[in-house]
Amino acid sequence: MQQEDLFKKLTAHSKEYGYIFQSSEIYDGLSAVYDYGQYGAELKNNIRKYWWDAMLLLNDNIVGLDSAIFMHPEVWKASGHVDAFNDPLIDNKDSKKRYRADVLIEDYIEKLEEKINKEVGKAAKRFGDKFDEAMFRQTNARVTDLAERIGNIIKRFVEASEKSDLQEIRQIIVDCEIACPVSGSRNWTEVRQFNLMFDTKLGSVSEDASKIYLRPETAQGIFVNFMNVQKSGRMKIPFGIAQVGKAFRNEIVARQFIFRMREFEQMEMQFFIRPGDEPQWYEFWKEKRMRWHKALGFDENKFRFHDHTKLAHYAVAATDIEFAFPFGFKEVEGIHSRTDYDLAQHQKFCGRKLQYFDTELNKSYVPYVVETSIGLDRMFLTVLAASYNEEKIKKENGREEERVVLGLPPALAPVKLAIFPLVKKDGLSEISQKIRDDLRFDFSCQYEEKDSIGRRYRRQDAIGTPFCITVDHQTKEDETVTIRYRDTMEQERVPVGKLREIIGEKASMKKLLQSL
Ligand code: ATP
Repeated sequence: MQQEDLFKKLTAHSKEYGYIFQSSEIYDGLSAVYDYGQYGAELKNNIRKYWWDAMLLLNDNIVGLDSAIFMHPEVWKASGHVDAFNDPLIDNKDSKKRYRADVLIEDYIEKLEEKINKEVGKAAKRFGDKFDEAMFRQTNARVTDLAERIGNIIKRFVEASEKSDLQEIRQIIVDCEIACPVSGSRNWTEVRQFNLMFDTKLGSVSEDASKIYLRPETAQGIFVNFMNVQKSGRMKIPFGIAQVGKAFRNEIVARQFIFRMREFEQMEMQFFIRPGDEPQWYEFWKEKRMRWHKALGFDENKFRFHDHTKLAHYAVAATDIEFAFPFGFKEVEGIHSRTDYDLAQHQKFCGRKLQYFDTELNKSYVPYVVETSIGLDRMFLTVLAASYNEEKIKKENGREEERVVLGLPPALAPVKLAIFPLVKKDGLSEISQKIRDDLRFDFSCQYEEKDSIGRRYRRQDAIGTPFCITVDHQTKEDETVTIRYRDTMEQERVPVGKLREIIGEKASMKKLLQSL
């Protein structure tokens, strides 16, 4: 299936099965804002819980926080967001489409990288076992030429970004002959900076009202509460503060469904450490976070690190965990070594000490920070994209049929099991409901008695329910039911009394956390 088609299907499927709706759809929608439907809300809760528990239950030295969306306006001056939370935008004069100039350049670099990888792939095939990739990359003229071009573009781009030289950024686009994907033309406007923060007014009387911002990230709520948490929790460095909450960005280009939204949710953890310890902790969190992603059991090749070449002004090291979305490898999570930048800035702006007294070293310092920052919605899209499958299956009558199945990790699935009476008579409904009533304290269950069993299976496959239980006449005799597994479609006869154990074994969050 074409990747673009896959993305379209995923979007349509999300709507059809109650995962994601366009916000205010009956008014033709609000751009880049989405609502989560009945199953979406549950899946989102489960992903949030997986993250929260992995942070808090599995680490003695990480605690949670829930800070407000509104913050004192000085916070955003201190953090650098008022001055520097900008994206460079550029318009194509023919298509009237707006782009992020940095993204156009990054995409261009990615294309050159793909060309290199193609050359390497071809050579690997040609030379077979004797192929020495490192040597080939160093000596093949076409590859070295492409690598040099990439190096030059990155160097120019990093320098231009550091100096906020917008003309030079435009010049790079012109020199690389980057064309608008829509019009195909190279007729570009100047590059302009655009601040991504939404603002509003606090207070009812307009003269007194002051301008405040909707937070563009949750991290600052953690920094400003650093002393509160450290003192009240008697926290010893190293320790972390984790929080999940809404963030808002007036994104320039917001086209890829829930990948880039204007209102979204972040799951961030700031880990406070001794200055000098940042290289170890950076590596530690990189590895730990990648493990969290891979533990979900999706194709491991779909995840990779992408180290930043253009570092934010506060960072000494930064990497993204990227996932192979239908539109290419893109960031899901960022891991940043942020030095003492944020706390030192707040210390300067608020005029209070934000320091930690280290009893072992017998001195005070402003702690350094390694942060992990993941978008809950982007993780949701990752899970959906990795789970969506269209399969051809052979029916008993020999005919082929297509089934759409969401192979969600059972621990994250919104509905864990569906219970069906084979027919609506002979007391089978009552037995089914009794089983549901017994299991509902452990798992989210659904009871369905309408339609044929086959159709009920299809519907649960599309929702991603990992287990379907069918109650039939034999159940009345020997208290057994059939359990049908979503992924293999295999069916097994098991005692009713064993259901809790079987499903608990396969669908529990506990097991998932234990695998970390
Ligand atoms: P991008 O380069 O994609 O704009 P970013 O580097 O600005 O992202 P961060 O500021 O590091 O992102 O934010 C941390 C995480 O928050 C990202 O890894 C992403 O998962 C999520 N995120 C950021 N912006 C958005 C958005 N507009 N919509 C959904 N999730 C977002």
